[in-house]
Amino acid sequence: MALDMQYFEEMEAKIPTGKVRTRFAPSPTGYMHVGNLRTALYTWLIARNAGGTFILRIEDTDQGRLVEGATDVIYRTLAECGLDHDEGPDVGGPVAPYIQSERRDTYGKYAELLVEKGHAYYCFCEKTESEEDSGNFERAADPCRDLSLEEARARVAAGEPYVIRQRIPREGTTTFHDAIFGDITVENETLDDQVLLKRDGLPTYNFANVIDDHLMGITHVVRGSEYLSSAPKYDLLYQAFGWTVPTYVHCSPVMRDAKNKMSKRHGDPSYEDLKAQGFLTEAILNYVALLGWSPRGELAEQEVFSLPELAKAFDLGGMSKSPAIFDIEKLTHFNAMYLRAMTPEAFAQVAEPYIRSVVTNEKIDAAAIAALLQARCERLTDIPEKVDFFQELPDYSVELFTNKKSKCNPDVAKEMLQVAIPMLSAMPQWTQEFIHESLVGLAEGYGVKNATLMWPIRIAMAGKTVTPGGAVEIACILGHKETIRRLKLGLEKLG
Ligand code: GLU
Repeated sequence: MALDMQYFEEMEAKIPTGKVRTRFAPSPTGYMHVGNLRTALYTWLIARNAGGTFILRIEDTDQGRLVEGATDVIYRTLAECGLDHDEGPDVGGPVAPYIQSERRDTYGKYAELLVEKGHAYYCFCEKTESEEDSGNFERAADPCRDLSLEEARARVAAGEPYVIRQRIPREGTTTFHDAIFGDITVENETLDDQVLLKRDGLPTYNFANVIDDHLMGITHVVRGSEYLSSAPKYDLLYQAFGWTVPTYVHCSPVMRDAKNKMSKRHGDPSYEDLKAQGFLTEAILNYVALLGWSPRGELAEQEVFSLPELAKAFDLGGMSKSPAIFDIEKLTHFNAMYLRAMTPEAFAQVAEPYIRSVVTNEKIDAAAIAALLQARCERLTDIPEKVDFFQELPDYSVELFTNKKSKCNPDVAKEMLQVAIPMLSAMPQWTQEFIHESLVGLAEGYGVKNATLMWPIRIAMAGKTVTPGGAVEIACILGHKETIRRLKLGLEKLG
């Protein structure tokens, strides 16, 4: 079984060099974790900061865990977030394919190469599927480790099922360097002879990852710190092949509280959940960027960053080793800031679907409602319950007409509505200025505070005490006829 060395030479020749190359390598799980989104963002930022290349690679070797439509979530999220990739399954590139299940043959060849070099061996022992998948099983002296290569190859040729395991040195230590965590040294005897190639010919996650990172010319491997413990085995693989070890950038976890990592299973929100909860993509990205990285120098105090600003400011030195706690209140604060900073047109555009989910009456101007909301909502999902009264007057109690500060009570309210209705009914023009001037004039003529008149009018129009916008704005949006109709209903209620 002679190895085709030319294949390896050709693969080497294809590897792009000279530029920073990073990859986001998600497994298609069906959703985007906040931690994953942050990894994608940091990976993209490192590439963009250095004028390098950002690659998307789909890691789908764990066929048992494949979820229908799961890659769509990845593409959609990256696109929505503006994390554009230069190479990937959909756009191609010099080291295609970018989907691991399509690279199957490659892994087998490299596993054989490692056997040839003496750094891996065929193992014929029975293993459970999960042992194979995880690559971890008892290190206990495997008799196959000591088989001669001829003998092992004869058994392979005879059709005996096998896996290929990494031959980890039994003595000595391995030290690897991480850009965030520094040097980490482990005793080799604590590392197991992990499975590289499974019986079905598919690689284990750890093996495919190393092969692909090398063959794709990845210079910075950015990933969650849960992979730190596998890093020494990766290093030994790189050494065994004689390849340069990339810069490792392990990111500390995103936690839900001091003790627990965020987890979908425990109900923590994914990126899609946050969107559904009314958070803006830009606000999510800005907040997530600061979970584990902080600007330094003259930017140290800056909190709001656009994506291009982040790309400029991002540096590995600002990344933190300590876990970050995801705080929904802080995200809400960012979201409110982003909502306020939008142009009125842009805000109206994002707010409209939420307004229209309750205000279906097309005669009511959604953009006018949006203008009232912009300074008053923290999340887009706050909108429906704030504006539902435009669609339909809720059933309300006369108690609402009582307000001390406005010097109003049901008797005063009745008096105010009695004078306001004929005046408003007779108005020739229904504009904000006109309504405002007329009402202020009426209050003055009647010798009451503006609020004493505005309060009952607003209550009668909205049926609730807290509304976005005051009486004048609401009247203008409701329109002449509907305003008068509601004021009359209010008057009836007051008996
Ligand atoms: N496929 C791995 C994951 O989704 C990525 C690990 C890596 O980036 O090396 O967690």
